[in-house]
Amino acid sequence: MPRLYIETFGCQMNEADSRYIVERAASAGYTVADAAEDANVVVLNTCTVRENAERRAYGRMNHFKALKACDPRVRLVVTGCLAEQDRDIMQRRAPHVDAVFGTRELALLGDRLAQWAQRDAALGEAPAGDRRDNMLRFALGGSADGVTDAFSHLRAFVTVQRGCSYYCTFCIVPQVRGRFDHRPAEAIVSDVSERIAQGAREIMLVGQTVNAWRDPADGSDFGDLFKRVAALPGLERLTFISPHPKDFSDKILDDLAAIAQLNPRIHLPLQSASNAMLRRMNRKYTLEQFDRVAGEIRRRIANAAITTDLIVGFPGESDADFEATLAYVRGGVFANAFTFIYSIRRGTPAAQWEQVPPDVAHARFTRLLDAQNDVTRRYHEAKVGRVVRALIAGDSKKDASRIAAKTTDNVTVVAPKPSDYGPEAPWLDVAVEAAHVWGCDGRVVGRARRFTESAEPVELPVISLV
Ligand code: SF4
Repeated sequence: MPRLYIETFGCQMNEADSRYIVERAASAGYTVADAAEDANVVVLNTCTVRENAERRAYGRMNHFKALKACDPRVRLVVTGCLAEQDRDIMQRRAPHVDAVFGTRELALLGDRLAQWAQRDAALGEAPAGDRRDNMLRFALGGSADGVTDAFSHLRAFVTVQRGCSYYCTFCIVPQVRGRFDHRPAEAIVSDVSERIAQGAREIMLVGQTVNAWRDPADGSDFGDLFKRVAALPGLERLTFISPHPKDFSDKILDDLAAIAQLNPRIHLPLQSASNAMLRRMNRKYTLEQFDRVAGEIRRRIANAAITTDLIVGFPGESDADFEATLAYVRGGVFANAFTFIYSIRRGTPAAQWEQVPPDVAHARFTRLLDAQNDVTRRYHEAKVGRVVRALIAGDSKKDASRIAAKTTDNVTVVAPKPSDYGPEAPWLDVAVEAAHVWGCDGRVVGRARRFTESAEPVELPVISLV
């Protein structure tokens, strides 16, 4: 059987695309490899959101040269935003890349995988894997995506919309992913039903500007879609990423707030709390309008955890602009934030503007990060002494004897593994004992089959005294 290895850079949109690629590969007869040296086809799903992501993607392509040198039959495929942006030059910069598929060509990639599998089978090609040595394994590194474990089916991404028509002056998405392309409600509902049937407990609706979604047939909005999806039998939790503050109408907020399965974590990307910067960024809202939306979310959704994205060092950002952002963050609005130093994206207006000196941008970044970390830690500390319900995510990355789970407000909780746990009862009740910036530590005190059911006791881990 042919094997496919995939690595994903960037956002949830790319993660959703990678899952789609894996599904198409599976239907073409591939299994998923957890190491590149064990694969017949290696896929890099790339990102261009930051210069660093672009450099890393080209770096990974270079790593994979070793694989091709070892076995020229291995095929290297690049997809995602960088593939879209550099489609004309990528194979000149990296001639060992076999194929490049843009973000709107994933179905073609699926067809190509099927053709390769058929052709290799007809030629009697042996599956790769037994000819790779440990030196190669060491040289390649990296980690695979799309490799399923006992818990990966519990959370499913369903794409509702691709592209964006808003042209923020720092963002390359409209150029590489195109303008809004909304999927029909029927197709989305059918995908969600399929994921629930496969065991998904939490559905994340994914789009570049997800709450701008409109049904192409009847113009119904994101709130209508959310209600339709929430009514599907068996759906336990529902969430979405990434919305635009300006597209949260009162009607959409009312619709969301009426849904019992809504996760109370709402991502609301602010970027800057200076109106001058928001204008330069072409964000289409003022701080006052943003703040009103945040307030309306809080008024409607009990214990809403609002998270955000922030950019520091955007061209033209003065000390006063930055201080406005810092003050807003210190006000404790956000449960958590993804904070970035502005990085030039070729082809965007802001790339042409005079840049903030790197040392100034770094100093601001550190101050902003410290301020948000204080707020985030306090948010997590409020959970200490409480029992929270969380969906299993898998082994803790740092310690395989511990289990990691995510609360509905998207906080990571880590606890020693109970002796009996599994995907059939994936909701863990965790007594939180300590808080950190990254999340909370605790101990599992119960587990439930469904989110709304009460928990059964768990067997505590056996501690060896030897
Ligand atoms: S809203 Fe702005 S930042 Fe978000 S995808 Fe569209 S252009 Fe990019």
